[in-house]
Amino acid sequence: NISANLPRIRQLDEAAVNRIAAGEVVERPASAVKELLENALDAGARRIEVAVAHGGKSLIRVTDDGHGIRAGDLPLALARHATSKIDGSDLLNIASFGFRGEALPSLGAVGRLTITSRAPGEAAARIAVSGGRMGPVTPAALTRGTVVELHDLFFATPARLKFLRSDRAEGQAIADVIRRLAMAEPFVAFTLRDVSDGGEGRVIFRADAETGDLFDAMRGRLARVLGADFAENALRIDARREGVSLLGYAALPTYSRGAAVAQYLFVNGRPVRDKLLIGALRAAYADFLSRDRHPAAALFVECDPTFVDVNVHPAKAEVRFREPGLVRGLIVSALRHALAEAGHRASSTVAG
Ligand code: ADP
Ligand code: MG
Repeated sequence: NISANLPRIRQLDEAAVNRIAAGEVVERPASAVKELLENALDAGARRIEVAVAHGGKSLIRVTDDGHGIRAGDLPLALARHATSKIDGSDLLNIASFGFRGEALPSLGAVGRLTITSRAPGEAAARIAVSGGRMGPVTPAALTRGTVVELHDLFFATPARLKFLRSDRAEGQAIADVIRRLAMAEPFVAFTLRDVSDGGEGRVIFRADAETGDLFDAMRGRLARVLGADFAENALRIDARREGVSLLGYAALPTYSRGAAVAQYLFVNGRPVRDKLLIGALRAAYADFLSRDRHPAAALFVECDPTFVDVNVHPAKAEVRFREPGLVRGLIVSALRHALAEAGHRASSTVAG
């Protein structure tokens, strides 16, 4: 009798669904840090402190001074597909980093998560979730903002735990995520500490809030993150075409590298690894560099949210432009122009 052996269709319980979703959203500790930093930035934080232990495997703690979460909303912050950032009516018009409402429930499904938060004019409160099991909202002490603590990431998914690399390698991936976001947010202060040995911990990275106009701030932050050497060898890029802007700094060809290690590309403040943008960067330098050299640059594409679809990939590393040719053309012409001018200046200095 075949029908007796026919598999039954079952509805998975919420904890299982969240663990599956977590597989896409949180690949490693660095992806958890990225989600938590983006939440802090979306909350308007001016100062963000990250503490990690053992490459983020045993602890990730992100403290921000953003607008906080109302005590009554804490359970919703942990519910799947619950977000304060969009209402779902216009997925092509997204101005925040987050919008899926998946990060916190995912982290709570695969680790032990505690959120302590205080919204203006309210008392501070806390909620905890561990392996998908949510506790009650309880009173807490906090002057402002939000503290998210994630212990024992992937304890609930041992298979994923096995794929993690050494504490050192995971720690470096975390530092890389923070550096990239710090480049895009020069007016926000960032600190990363390693608290593996307890106490105050060891500062791994610190960037104070930059001041001045956007280009001053950007240059100061790039010097902080990429080194004074980059900032001293970089040309200011400031171009726009049909509502798309290209801002940032591109290094002189003499500062190029043997590998494509110093290419930092952002779309509306999001770090991206996008083939179109990388290809445009390469094409712009083609006449100025030999084929085995790679340009160094930190470039920020800014455009109306409706001009770019950030909904392509759960980790949001890829984007899709409505008019890719326009973006490519803007990058190639702006960089070529800046490089040609710099070359002209250099040769006239030599001649003079
Ligand atoms: P998303 O960012 O896609 O909205 P998350 O699961 O990351 O989804 O967060 C859920 C909600 O919790 C957010 O929409 C926001 O309202 C709130 N939230 C999360 N982190 C913070 C924070 N650091 N400060 C203020 N609110 C936060
Ligand atoms: Mg989020």
